[in-house]
Amino acid sequence: MKNSDMRIIKIRELEVFAHHGVFEEETMAGQKFFINAKLVLDNTAGQVLSDDLESTVDYGEVCHFITEYMQKNTCKLLEKITELLCIEILYKYPLVSGITLEIRKPEAPIGLPFESVSVERTLSRHIAYLSIGSNMGDKEGHLDRAIALLDKEKHTRFICESERFATEPYGGVIQEDFLNSAVMVETVLSPHELLDYLHEIENSEGRKREVRWGPRTLDLDIVFYDDISLSDSTLTIPHTDMQNRLFVLEPLAKIAGYYRHPVLGRTVSELLKELEARELTDGDL
Ligand code: ATP
Ligand code: CA
Ligand code: CA
Repeated sequence: MKNSDMRIIKIRELEVFAHHGVFEEETMAGQKFFINAKLVLDNTAGQVLSDDLESTVDYGEVCHFITEYMQKNTCKLLEKITELLCIEILYKYPLVSGITLEIRKPEAPIGLPFESVSVERTLSRHIAYLSIGSNMGDKEGHLDRAIALLDKEKHTRFICESERFATEPYGGVIQEDFLNSAVMVETVLSPHELLDYLHEIENSEGRKREVRWGPRTLDLDIVFYDDISLSDSTLTIPHTDMQNRLFVLEPLAKIAGYYRHPVLGRTVSELLKELEARELTDGDL
């Protein structure tokens, strides 16, 4: 995002009396915390010249929200409460695309002269496209529950799903047909955290990892995450084989046909057309 395309709201030194801390004296007696927040708002069309509170984020409301959240929840670590508050604010205020939050604790029981200790965290929203599939048991049910689970935690929000396609298995293992679709989610998780979360959802649907490309109750793959490209021993984004798979491209073209592959430089619709053309030519041989 260009700097000129965003607005920033800053909250400085909001004072809250709360009970976070590791020591009993902190959780019992409580102490002062000071909060600094920087909220990044996208300047989408129509909002730039608006003088209407609806078109922005009411900072007074955010201050009350932070105060209540700090007082209703108690965490041992500043890191934890900072993380939770960032997630809550991004979840509650859809116009906020990113947040930097610092919580200062000037009365921490350190026993030495000091000004304050603080923890700062920056979180922002990301868009991810997933390819999801099942070819065991109640396939519709596995996909339905995967979608419900994708929307259960505040760090990730389900946005939409393509229609579901029945497809033949891939990779040469003889097994039942698959039911596949593409899903768009918004998430504040990093790519690796998102992968861990997808594994949790797969496990909760009884996924076993036995035969590569073999039958599975649920498979959740990350196809795109914003326009990043990364590869390490556990994760490759964009998904390394997506351009060769009709069962990924066909559903994905329904919800993200215009999305451009950050490495191949072609849109999903273009990749789909190319693959269909390749398959036709191969069929003629
Ligand atoms: P394929 O990735 O070819 O579709 P698969 O989905 O059957 O095969 P799994 O057994 O589900 O393979 O996953 C094997 C590992 O692939 C995962 O544990 C994960 O670490 C890794 N992986 C790498 N890139 C991705 C990605 N983009 N999305 C999901 N998993 C990935
Ligand atoms: Ca897969
Ligand atoms: Ca997988």
